[in-house]
Amino acid sequence: MPITEVNIISSCGKCGTEIETVTVKKDNMMLFTKEHAWCSKCQADRPQVRDVAGRKDSIEQERKSYPKAVPAVPFSDQPSGSAKG
Ligand SMILES: [Zn+2]
Repeated sequence: MPITEVNIISSCGKCGTEIETVTVKKDNMMLFTKEHAWCSKCQADRPQVRDVAGRKDSIEQERKSYPKAVPAVPFSDQPSGSAKG
């Protein structure tokens, strides 16, 4: 099932305080806005910084779907410098 909606977190462009989270259609996703939002911490209207919520989670889930890259090594005299990150 394709993801059609994404959560966008609006944060204060000055102090980074999360202002609001909005759910938008992916097609309408706009990470840039000229609208200012009220920051309760700054007590002022601030330019917003927007980011997609859950982006890290999806990366994390993708990683978990990979097979484990570290099998048990029966020999202790294997060169240890071959680990790939
Ligand atoms: Zn602020």
